[in-house]
Amino acid sequence: MNYCGACGAPISGDGTRFCGSCGAALQQGSATVPASALLPPLKAAKKTHTGALAVAFVSVALLAGALTVMLLG
Ligand SMILES: [Zn+2]
Repeated sequence: MNYCGACGAPISGDGTRFCGSCGAALQQGSATVPASALLPPLKAAKKTHTGALAVAFVSVALLAGALTVMLLG
């Protein structure tokens, strides 16, 4: 069983070239992966995660506001 060098997810299949979890390129038979190949997907995932977090925060804030109006009104 191989594991993704970027996120550690298990990789099934010998012909798999990309991680099914994070999309990082996999190098068969080599433990070293160029940092330049890992940076773009990691950066994108981080940006997406931050955006989702902001959306979740706004949703919670709106929900709290609506709840307050319902309780007070
Ligand atoms: Zn991965």
